[in-house]
Amino acid sequence: MQLLSYALGVLLFLALAPLTAPGQLPPVQSASANAGATVPGDDLIRSRISVGLTHLHWSMTGEAPLERKPCATMHFETSQTTICLDAAQQATVSDPRYQESYVVPVEHGATDRSTVSIRRSDLMIPNGPAEVDVSCAGCASEDLQVRVAPRRWSGCSAGPVPDTWKVMHGPEESKAIAITLDDGPSPFTDDMLEVLDKHSVPATFYVMGSRLSQRPAMAQQVLRRGHSLGNHTWTHADLRRQRAGVVESELQRTSELLRRTTGSRPCTFRAPYGEDPAPVVAAAERAGMVTVGWNADSKDWELPSAAAMTQRVLGKLRPGAIILLHDGGGPRERSVVALERIITAARDQGYRFKTTEELLGLQVDYAPVS
Ligand SMILES: [Zn+2]
Repeated sequence: MQLLSYALGVLLFLALAPLTAPGQLPPVQSASANAGATVPGDDLIRSRISVGLTHLHWSMTGEAPLERKPCATMHFETSQTTICLDAAQQATVSDPRYQESYVVPVEHGATDRSTVSIRRSDLMIPNGPAEVDVSCAGCASEDLQVRVAPRRWSGCSAGPVPDTWKVMHGPEESKAIAITLDDGPSPFTDDMLEVLDKHSVPATFYVMGSRLSQRPAMAQQVLRRGHSLGNHTWTHADLRRQRAGVVESELQRTSELLRRTTGSRPCTFRAPYGEDPAPVVAAAERAGMVTVGWNADSKDWELPSAAAMTQRVLGKLRPGAIILLHDGGGPRERSVVALERIITAARDQGYRFKTTEELLGLQVDYAPVS
């Protein structure tokens, strides 16, 4: 029987051969194009795909699997993501929710070049189960299943030493951006979380210690939903006017409260009013935190319309942008509306979202959410 199916496969190959110019691989075939086809076993690249806390791992067996430019499409309940290994060091990712496909770096196993890993923060994949079709040039389709387990930020480190301890935006080479939400937690934090959940978009919440002490459970809530936390001082003091001891205390009390409520200290800090002269940046550095500004300000604290906030941010949008909105410190209904409009418009322009730590390439630790 095996011999028969192999013989059929050879016949099929011979029948298809004239369609392909000498020396050229046949085009990538979709799963449906392969349905019912008999293909010699050697043509099938066996894949194993798993999604860990930090990386998606894809290992392949078969003849020269990477040269065949394999693609894997993950079908989630509400979205799908296609990853194509189009070169040794990079993959092209496409997702119908985004207008443009984008290129992400690929890491290889130390000894095995047929094993590739892609950072999970480079993929806009939701949590949950997915059916996966794997196809490649001249291969049969293979169907797999994966499960993307929810993860939570469990700490981060600015070390060994970042290029700079003060940033206003992230790297400008790729269309990744970060949304930051300041001055919470507040009753509006839940509304912001709903919008972020709906779009599977991560954000960074710069919390005030005094407000977090009123709502300590919010820190865990923010983390459980895939976001990160940063230090925004205890009282929102203008640190330019404070003695060194007060600056240290504002930072340390807040980081200590975050440690008590989440088990981890933050590695990014945002100065109230963006007032971060060198001594403030140095104090944050001593506390292990990069000072993070912004370059796409909604000015939502002036309480303009949601349309005006959205326009302001979209007018400043560029690769590496850090967007500033507020989830606390005033009525934020319009900021919630603007957040959703900004996400939708930025995604339509091909932008992807990361937490501030991920955008800046800091060392982030994750833990599973049970
Ligand atoms: Zn603030």
